[in-house]
Amino acid sequence: MKKLVALLLAAVMTMSLLTACGNNASEETAKTDTAAEQGEEGASQALADGVLTVGTNAEFPPFEYVDDNGEADGFDIALIRAIGEKLGAEVVVENMEFDSLVASIGSKIDVAIAGMTVTDERKESVDFSDSYYEAVQYVILPADSEIATAEDLVGKTIGVQLGTTGDFIASDDIADTTVQQYNKAVDAVNDLINGRLDCVIIDKNPALVFESRFEGQVKAVPGEQFAFGVEEYAIALPKGDAALAQQINGALAEIKEDGTFDQLVKTYIEGE
Ligand code: GLN
Repeated sequence: MKKLVALLLAAVMTMSLLTACGNNASEETAKTDTAAEQGEEGASQALADGVLTVGTNAEFPPFEYVDDNGEADGFDIALIRAIGEKLGAEVVVENMEFDSLVASIGSKIDVAIAGMTVTDERKESVDFSDSYYEAVQYVILPADSEIATAEDLVGKTIGVQLGTTGDFIASDDIADTTVQQYNKAVDAVNDLINGRLDCVIIDKNPALVFESRFEGQVKAVPGEQFAFGVEEYAIALPKGDAALAQQINGALAEIKEDGTFDQLVKTYIEGE
């Protein structure tokens, strides 16, 4: 209860700060107010304890990685911390295998943020927030590889992160492939460099990070060249928790409006 009072106090203080700053104050105040009221009514169990437990797989730079201090960091981590701040909730990050995230929502974790693509199959188990980033799968190749078209991928040995959309494409959409699944993307890239794989299929931004990390040894080729479709990242939420979805989407919208989102893109993705 003390925690709840503290939360409400924090919300009131945020509101007066916003009012003092002017700039869309009444609109933002209204949103913050709604979120606080929902928390008070306990509509979402996920936030009832004032803690938002967030699952991620910190093997996916620049969205999530383990920093020099052994802490999870990256665009997604900063984004969910900013959302937690808006909601007056403490964010606790649990680092786990990507493939375990969806099944852990509602038990070990409240939500998951992990550069996770919205898919119909995942939607059977979880709900998704509004999407916050657009992606496409890329193909990482040895620098001297001649693979260049979708046809060239047929029959190849392909490295992927287990349970990802790259995994689904390599396993289901390309004929006669041998698919090697990894829990850590960097292990796949190392096997590519060591000649054990013909290519790695992974999302655009991590592919670009690995291309520069292993400069001269690998190249990252846009998925459009292989006719891969566009994907949308969103936060995975417990199924049916409309109150939590509303709170998280509200906070996300505020973060987009107030410039925080663009700043995080610059800091973590565009490297400024
Ligand atoms: N976007 C991909 C997916 O959702 C990969 C995510 C990841 O490896 N963290 O499957």
